[in-house]
Amino acid sequence: MAKRDYYEVLGVPRNASDEEIKKAYRSLAKKYHPDVSKEENAAEKFKEVQEAYEVLSDPGKRQQYDRFGHNGPQMDFEGFNFGGFGGFGGFEDILSQMFGGRSRASENARRPTRGRDLRTSLTISFEEAAFGTEKELSINKYETCSRCNGIGAESKNDISTCSRCYGSGRIIVDQTSIFGRIQTETTCPTCGGAGEIIKNKCGLCGGEGRVKRASKVKVRIPSGIEDGQGLKLSGYGEAGRKGGMNGDLYINIRVRPHELFQRDGLDVYMEMPITFSQAALGASIIVPTLTGNVNLKIPSGTQTGTKFKLAGKGIRNSRTLETGDQYVIVNLVTPTKLSGEQKDLFRKLSKTNEMSESVFSKIKKFFKN
Ligand SMILES: [Zn+2]
Ligand SMILES: [Zn+2]
Repeated sequence: MAKRDYYEVLGVPRNASDEEIKKAYRSLAKKYHPDVSKEENAAEKFKEVQEAYEVLSDPGKRQQYDRFGHNGPQMDFEGFNFGGFGGFGGFEDILSQMFGGRSRASENARRPTRGRDLRTSLTISFEEAAFGTEKELSINKYETCSRCNGIGAESKNDISTCSRCYGSGRIIVDQTSIFGRIQTETTCPTCGGAGEIIKNKCGLCGGEGRVKRASKVKVRIPSGIEDGQGLKLSGYGEAGRKGGMNGDLYINIRVRPHELFQRDGLDVYMEMPITFSQAALGASIIVPTLTGNVNLKIPSGTQTGTKFKLAGKGIRNSRTLETGDQYVIVNLVTPTKLSGEQKDLFRKLSKTNEMSESVFSKIKKFFKN
């Protein structure tokens, strides 16, 4: 099923403000939450709403979505785990999200949290996939702030534990909701969920401890990689918070098709046109391979579609050290523009019974029956 437009999912115009998006999300999350909703396909609708909100509520992701739609460079993954929004939270989680207004991903107070995994795709040529290559990617991501080393403050002495939540970043509040009176845990408004108060915030990251910037990543692509395969670069995702580990970077490799060659695993296939006379009389023809031209002997009487194998001329996988073969499929090309002399020669040829007797007799038998 085609993915629905995120704006359509939330029922807001493309120029909707952050507030409108948030409002639409809250009311739809209430309507479709699987714990309470009686709507048909509530779970799927709920997930769809969450995903749309996750993208449209993040200015960077929204901008990217506006430009590229669902097929943007960072979004073309099915099952993309939208940072912390994986499955369904319990209903309380959703309520606290609605009332607290912050996603769970940012509510982990002072505990170290792992940075988010990032996903991107990279298109390489057929030859680059065959021989391996090295590429440099530029990725916008959060990195540990170089000025404060991630603590978010100008100095360690500027940080004190929040006196309202005692460092947990969360407080319990009584809420009156459409479902009655409930106790719910929510983000501490004093410290914004950080669990600490920074008197003198870092001048570079503004207390975040991380800075978003374009960083270059060198990727070594092994030879033999196939279209659709992924590479994982551990630790190259976003920086963690409060000393948490970095996330990982996942790269989906796309391989551009080649004009001449096709691949099946490590084997390479190509079609080679040959003439009537080459097929009939036999010939030595020159065939391109990934590593240069080679001679191929065509025996006399070769039929169109015959497959010849060039052992070891396929692709070498640098990880398994296996090497494929190249297969050359010859195609008999019927001439379309003949000179007078050539026509004469073909007429002469047609008088000699060039087709074998056995084929003729089979055909005759078929007509008699
Ligand atoms: Zn607090
Ligand atoms: Zn900083």
